[in-house]
Amino acid sequence: MKKHDQDFMKRQNRLTVFEIIKNQRPISRASIAKQTGMSATTVSRIVGELTEEGYIQESEQVSAGLGRKSTLLGLVDGSVLSIGIELDRHAISVGIVDLQGNIVCSEVYSRLSEDSSTDTLERLGSIVLEMLERNAIKRNRVVGIGVGLPGIVNIEKGIVVFSVQLGWKNVRLSERLKELTGFEVAVDNELKVKALAEHLKGAAIGSNRTALIGFGNGVGSALIIEGGIYRGEMNSAGEIGHTTIDPNGMLCECGKPGCLQTYINISSLLSEANKIRPIHTIEELFDAYRVKEPWAVHLIDRALMYMSITVNNVVCMYNPDSVILSGELVDKFPEICSEVKELCSTRLVWEPLRESFSFHRSELNERGVVIGSGLLAQTRFFVLE
Ligand SMILES: [Zn+2]
Repeated sequence: MKKHDQDFMKRQNRLTVFEIIKNQRPISRASIAKQTGMSATTVSRIVGELTEEGYIQESEQVSAGLGRKSTLLGLVDGSVLSIGIELDRHAISVGIVDLQGNIVCSEVYSRLSEDSSTDTLERLGSIVLEMLERNAIKRNRVVGIGVGLPGIVNIEKGIVVFSVQLGWKNVRLSERLKELTGFEVAVDNELKVKALAEHLKGAAIGSNRTALIGFGNGVGSALIIEGGIYRGEMNSAGEIGHTTIDPNGMLCECGKPGCLQTYINISSLLSEANKIRPIHTIEELFDAYRVKEPWAVHLIDRALMYMSITVNNVVCMYNPDSVILSGELVDKFPEICSEVKELCSTRLVWEPLRESFSFHRSELNERGVVIGSGLLAQTRFFVLE
C-alpha cells in the first residue's frame, strides 16, 4: 500500500472509532473491534491516541463474564464545543453546545425589531466573546459558531438571502461574524437546524422521514429524508407558510394576499384580535379564548383548523413517518398539540394517511434551534486531525 493510502486509512479508522464511541458510549474496546473488523491492537492504539489528545476517557468497568473486567470508553466533557445561536425578531439566544448536543451554558437577550443587521451582528460578536470569557472556556476547544434564523439562507456562502421576520436582505452573516469573533460561522434556516436537533437528540430519534412544522411568528416546515435535511434549490424547501390559501385573503407580511400563515401566526392573530378590543400579547388572546369570548373562540378555532390543514398538506406531500409540532405557539400552549392531533385524526388528514405517521410535540422546545445550530457548526467545522 502506498504511504498516501496508508495515511488515509489511518485517518478513516480514527474517525470510525471516534464516531462509534460518540454514538454508542459507553462501549468497550472489544465491541469496537467486533463492529469494525479492526484488530484489537489497532483499536487499542487509536483509543490510546484519542485519550492522549483529550477526546475520550475510560468511564467505567463492567463484568465481562468469568470474572474478567471490561473497561468502557466515553467522551471527555467539553473536549469539543461549539456556539449555537438563535436569532429571532425580538430575541437572541446563545448557548455553548457539547458533542452530545447538551447546552453547557446559555443566555437569552432581547432584541429590538428595528435593530439593523450591522448592529445585531456586532452585538452578537461581543456576546459570544463575553460568554466564553465569563465561563472560562478556552478558544481552542470551540470549533465554530452556528446560527439559526427565520428566512431563506444561502448555506454555502453564509448569506441571509431574505428574512421577513428580521427585515434582512442579502446579509453576509458568516463573513462578518467571523471577522468579529475569529471563529468559522455556519448559518441556516431555524426550522432546518431544529429538525436536525430533534432528529439527533429529541422527538425524532430513529425516524428517517421526519416533518417538523413550526407555528409561531411565522409558519414553516422542515423535512428530514433518510437522515438528511431536504433543502431544495434555494434551501427554501418547506416554506409552507407562504402557500396561498385564499387569493383574496388578508395580506401577509411577505406582500402576498391569503398566505397560509395569515390564519395562524402570532402577529396575524393579534392584529385580528385588535379589531375587537386592545389585546397586547398572545397570552391575553388565549385568556379570552379560555373564558369563551366568542370572537376569540372563532379566531383560535380557525387557527387550529388551519394548523391541522397544514399537517394534512405536509403529510400528503411528503408521506413522513413522524410529524413534530414546534414553535412559540406550541411551546406556550401545549393544548394546541392535542387539539390539532384530534382534528387530524378525526377529520382533517386524508383518511388513507391517518395511521401512516406518529404525532409528536417538540421535545427540545425553545432550546431546539440553539442545540441544532451548535450541532450544525460541529458537523461543518469539527475535523478529527
Ligand atoms: Zn406570505
